Amino acid sequence: MNELVMDAVPGVTRVALPVGVNAVESVNMYVLADGDSVTVVDCGVWRPDLPDGGLAALEAGLEGAGYALRDVSRILVTHAHIDHYGLAGRLMELTGAGLSMHAMTDLDCEKYRHPDTARARRRDTYADHGVSELERTDLADHLTRWLPYLHSVVEASTRYRGGEKLDIGGDTWEVVHTPGHSLGHVCLWSPARGLLLSGDHLLPGITPPVAFERGFDADPLRSYLDSLRAIADRGPTLVYPGHGRPFGDAVGRIEAILRTKTRRLEKIRRAIEAKPSTVTELADTLVAKAILAHQRQLALSETLAHIAYLRWSGEVERRTRPDGVYEWYCTSGARAR
Ligand SMILES: [Zn+2]
Repeated sequence: MNELVMDAVPGVTRVALPVGVNAVESVNMYVLADGDSVTVVDCGVWRPDLPDGGLAALEAGLEGAGYALRDVSRILVTHAHIDHYGLAGRLMELTGAGLSMHAMTDLDCEKYRHPDTARARRRDTYADHGVSELERTDLADHLTRWLPYLHSVVEASTRYRGGEKLDIGGDTWEVVHTPGHSLGHVCLWSPARGLLLSGDHLLPGITPPVAFERGFDADPLRSYLDSLRAIADRGPTLVYPGHGRPFGDAVGRIEAILRTKTRRLEKIRRAIEAKPSTVTELADTLVAKAILAHQRQLALSETLAHIAYLRWSGEVERRTRPDGVYEWYCTSGARAR
């Protein structure tokens, strides 16, 4: 079912596209009117199991905003996670529009082009951190579960670096680079309207996951917290998120997320201070023991991101146990913050 919302902000339509796989219910596409043409922001997944490939909902959304596929002149993707980006290649074929993303999304594209290497790298990471061999393969299959919903791997034709100004429908939108949830993540910010299209950088109800992945950001949590502050400085009055309903009080939401992340950092630091620990031990004690593979995978990569933050802060360090597993301990110079 397609939930079409013609919001109070003229020229901006939110379309909740159904996803329905891997525990993601829906993703928001935003249709930004620009005279006779439109910019779409995020585009949902490719559905090989549906006769229309998942396009019907997208087309209905465009129609609801008064447009058709041929009117799409720009496809902007906030970050190259498959729930936001899966249909981009197909949409480019159908509309001839270019794809605008941050330059760092190259790394995601590289991963999708070489999934075997990506999976092997992830298995190596898990092995180093003490995940059992049995569980390792299952966990590394996260990518396998998403790839069927990616139509094709397409690189950005317009490569953002952050700070670009886009004129859309008489309004000026700033492209804000917000690494953290994903290294190549951008938000779109309209100062005149106080409106932020936040992608997965800010979500209602849940704290966006920040995962560590080898070969990407060495300290993604620090990037994320810095990106949150950069958005708080702009003081959005209305946030249109990548999932769920629009919300106000962005600064309050940001403060809540900062508190959650800081609390977890402190918990992990204390646990390591009490007893040198492996990442699997930390994930099991700190994040409720997750049953489903994707939850467990998330818990481990979140814990890794927190550990990386503490390590780059000089508070914890790593040593290799005799069995080859990494163990984390508090450095003597560490003190409570
Ligand atoms: Zn995402």
